[in-house]
Amino acid sequence: LGKMGCVGTAVRIGLMGGTFDPIHYGHLVAAEDARYELGLEKVVFIPAGQPPHKPKELVSEAAHRVAMVRLAIATNPCFELSTVEVERPGPSYTVDTVAAFRKQYPAGEFYFITGADAVAEILSWHRAEELLTLCRVVAVTRPGYVLDNLRERLAGLDAYLWRKIRVLPVPGVAISSTAIRERVREGRPIRYLLPDQVEAYIKEQGLYRLRVHRGIPRD
Ligand code: ATP
Ligand code: MG
Repeated sequence: LGKMGCVGTAVRIGLMGGTFDPIHYGHLVAAEDARYELGLEKVVFIPAGQPPHKPKELVSEAAHRVAMVRLAIATNPCFELSTVEVERPGPSYTVDTVAAFRKQYPAGEFYFITGADAVAEILSWHRAEELLTLCRVVAVTRPGYVLDNLRERLAGLDAYLWRKIRVLPVPGVAISSTAIRERVREGRPIRYLLPDQVEAYIKEQGLYRLRVHRGIPRD
């Protein structure tokens, strides 16, 4: 449990889920700002195993995505990696992941960090209302996605559960993994979009050179 997990002491933990194919500065800035603004002890990055919303053939092997997260967070003592989702067979549901963390840290207060695009879909997530009873959700701003109308978009949500969602403005980082994968395939630079170590890993491993990563399934 570590020294923060003493009985009776609430430990505030951020959980950052994602495909991380690859991890980039948009993820890292969001996690770091949420950590600071919410006074979190740490932020745990949780690469998704088999993302329920993305067909399997479009996502890189979990081992690569995990390796890139590890490289990207190495210099931040408040960032951690969890392989709980990649080790769990079948599709990964955030609600199961958060439930597992609550078991591991009974005194934990959990903040699930999600971007403006992802939070708008939250009602379609598996057991969404149960998830909101297990943790708070931090919706970070993301260029190209509006959060102003979030309450209307989540109109189906009970007022009590709506209060579990908080919008957090973070420095705008107009980077996506999709754009990085496209750039690699087209031979354009990805330097300064993600940590140098992750760039080097992508080159060494020859990731994202195939067309399949544009979102076109293999035939
Ligand atoms: P892809 O293009 O493959 O969907 P992505 O860049 O959206 O990749 P994900 O792994 O899908 O990255 O995102 C994980 C989480 O991080 C999501 O909640 C997403 O909204 C958030 N996120 C990703 N990029 C940014 C960004 N640039 N700014 C803020 N939040 C982001
Ligand atoms: Mg995404």
